[in-house]
Amino acid sequence: MTSNAVIDVADLTKVYVTDEVETHALTGVNLRVDSGEYVAIMGPSGCGKTTLMSILGLLDAPTAGTYDLAGTPVAALDARQRAHFRNRNIGFVFQSFNLIGDLNVYENVELPLVYRGGLSRAERREKVAAALENVGMLHRMRHYPAQLSGGQQQRVAIARALVGDPAILLADEPTGNLDSANGEKVMDLLAALNARGATLVMVTHDARYAAHAKRLVRLFDGQIVAEQESCRSEGRVPAEGPASHCVEVKER
Ligand code: ADP
Ligand code: MG
Repeated sequence: MTSNAVIDVADLTKVYVTDEVETHALTGVNLRVDSGEYVAIMGPSGCGKTTLMSILGLLDAPTAGTYDLAGTPVAALDARQRAHFRNRNIGFVFQSFNLIGDLNVYENVELPLVYRGGLSRAERREKVAAALENVGMLHRMRHYPAQLSGGQQQRVAIARALVGDPAILLADEPTGNLDSANGEKVMDLLAALNARGATLVMVTHDARYAAHAKRLVRLFDGQIVAEQESCRSEGRVPAEGPASHCVEVKER
C-alpha cells in the first residue's frame, strides 16, 4: 500500500447481541485518516461514536469489515500481538480520565512504558518527564489523581496516552467531564499536539470543540453521513445534526 494512512477502515459493522435484542451500532463505516490529520467525529448520543473508537483503539473487534492500522490488517493479529500493537501504536483518552488512583502522576504516565518493556528506568524517566512537560503537568508529578482538578487529570491522561509516541491519539469526549474553562485548555492542548505532528481522532458532541479539528466526520445511526472541512477558518462552528454546513457561533 503506497499511502500514509494511519487508519483505514472499510465496510465496518458492529452488532451487539444480547439475550433479547440485536443492536446494529455500526452499519458500514468507511474512514481513512492520514498521518498528521486532526479529525473530529460528531453525532448524537447512541449513534455509535464510542463503538467506533473502541474498534479503532483495538479495545473491541468489529462484526465485519476491515481495519488496517499503520498498514497492518489488525484482524490477523492474535490477542497477544494485538495488545503489543495497541501499546505501540495507540494512545487512548477517555471521557472519565481513567487514571489509577493508587499511582501518582509520574507512575500513571510511566505505566505504558513499563508494560512495553525494553526501556531502562532512566530512559523511562526521560520520556515521562517530556510527556508531562508537554501537557504542563511536570510540577505535579508526585501528586495523586485525587489531588488534581478534572482538567489536570485529563492532561495527565493525555501525557499517558502520548508517552509511548503512538501513531495515533484517540480521544472519546475528552472534555465531557470538564467545565468549559478546563475543556478549552484540553482542546488547546490537543490542537498544539496536532500542530507538532500528532495524528488525532476526537469524538465530541460539542460543535465549538469540533471546530478545533481540521476535518469533521458526522456519524448518524451507525453510518458516516457527511464529511466536511472544519469551519474554524470561517470563525463558525458546525451545525447541529447530520447537516454538513457551518453556522455562526452563538454567544453563550
Ligand atoms: P455513542 O458513543 O455515540 O453515544 P455507542 O457507540 O456507545 O454510542 O452506542 C451505540 C449503540 O450501541 C447504542 O444503541 C448502544 O445502546 C449500543 N451499545 C453500545 N455498547 C453496547 C454493548 N456493550 N452491548 C449492547 N449494546 C451496546
Ligand atoms: Mg460515547
